[in-house]
Amino acid sequence: GVSGSNSHLLSEVEGKTPSTDTDSVVINLDHGDPTMFEPFWRATGERGIVVVPGWQTMSYFSRADGLCWFMEPKLAGEIIRLHRLVGNARTEGRHIVVGTGSTQLFQAALYALSSPDALEPVSVVSAAPFYSSYPAVTDFLRSGLYRWAGDARSFNGDGPYIELVCSPNNPDGFVMEAVVNKEEGKTIHDLAYYWPQYAPITGASSHDIMLFTFSKITGHAGTRIGWALVKDRDVAEKMTKFIELNTIGVSKDSQLRAARILGAVSDGIFDFGRRLMAERWDRLREAVRITGSFSVPEYPSADCNFTGESTPLLPAFAWLRCEKEGVEDCRGFLRSRGILTRSGKLFGSGPDYVRVSMLDRDDNFNLFIQRLLSAA
Ligand code: PMP
Repeated sequence: GVSGSNSHLLSEVEGKTPSTDTDSVVINLDHGDPTMFEPFWRATGERGIVVVPGWQTMSYFSRADGLCWFMEPKLAGEIIRLHRLVGNARTEGRHIVVGTGSTQLFQAALYALSSPDALEPVSVVSAAPFYSSYPAVTDFLRSGLYRWAGDARSFNGDGPYIELVCSPNNPDGFVMEAVVNKEEGKTIHDLAYYWPQYAPITGASSHDIMLFTFSKITGHAGTRIGWALVKDRDVAEKMTKFIELNTIGVSKDSQLRAARILGAVSDGIFDFGRRLMAERWDRLREAVRITGSFSVPEYPSADCNFTGESTPLLPAFAWLRCEKEGVEDCRGFLRSRGILTRSGKLFGSGPDYVRVSMLDRDDNFNLFIQRLLSAA
């Protein structure tokens, strides 16, 4: 799927003149690659630089005194500072578990919440449209511990289950709560987008397991750092065990880089992100209105404790519906116009929907709007 943008990249690597004919470049908005933050970190300079001497971070171990033995204390400190600054999650009385992206922590949480002695794999559900990685990651190793069971809204099993709650939701951007709420259920809250760039901060979340990713806060997806705030000690220990068995810890170099970058985070990145997202959403809504061939959801505003203003949701993805007569496959339609997106089908929805990343570089976002306007 990435051939279009890759071939462009390759020509630069090989020192050839990249094509200036932007009409022929396929823009890839399928992944949520948060490259829009690059200009911010370019401008930050010194405060975002890390130097690691050859003799440092060699050991498997960190000098951590907490439960997560491979977590760098500096990173833990920055995580606590950041949640206090933003006010989006409670860290008091929580164990922090660091992971190789929140993708690893999601799997660690499934492992920790399932019972090795159960006769049947525990059902894993999430309200549709759900993040497409949830079913993919849950089932790819055909675990005997857990099994994807689809849309939480139609779940009618009566045994134990695990519900994934993504809020604000990937792909459609809405604020979510658990929908099943049965006795034997456990929840994992994925709060990847509960940051001031994307959402009003209406309170400090205090769920049992909360997952966060460095990727969507500062844009450093490639550093592969995520963390979980976990109330229950036993669950946090099992998650740590999973990571020990899976990767014997998490890259120290990445943790130190994340700590350094998070240390440079104050209001600046949130202002930068919010302004850019607000401008992009305005432009997208205008383009959608002009074409008449698409629709996007309307989002409510709420008072944000962080900005001190009433602010709307500004989701990291556009959940775009094709309203054009005779077009059933929105993804195919946009692809024929040089825009790669992810089909609604992968999120438990229909092919009339696509998810489009709003976090790409300016050039690609501009091309996206241009092409949307001419696709009508
Ligand atoms: N959860 C959600 C809702 C996401 O959108 C993403 C990234 N697309 C992740 C988790 C994974 O993040 P990470 O890069 O930390 O693995």
